[in-house]
Amino acid sequence: MNKLTKTVKCPECKSLSEWSKKNIYRPFCSKRCQLLDLGAWTNEMHKIPGDSLNESILDDPEIA
Ligand SMILES: [Zn+2]
Repeated sequence: MNKLTKTVKCPECKSLSEWSKKNIYRPFCSKRCQLLDLGAWTNEMHKIPGDSLNESILDDPEIA
């Protein structure tokens, strides 16, 4: 019985990539896509608390 190669859709570029031990970047198709997704994720993590903190300080009339 032949095992079919399992493929997954890359969350970054939506192309099909091989789901195997050979593909160390799974579920991504490549290192590039893995880094892109990781970068977008960490950017948002830093952006949300940073922006709200700065805005609350600048917009607070009690401080100025
Ligand atoms: Zn990709």
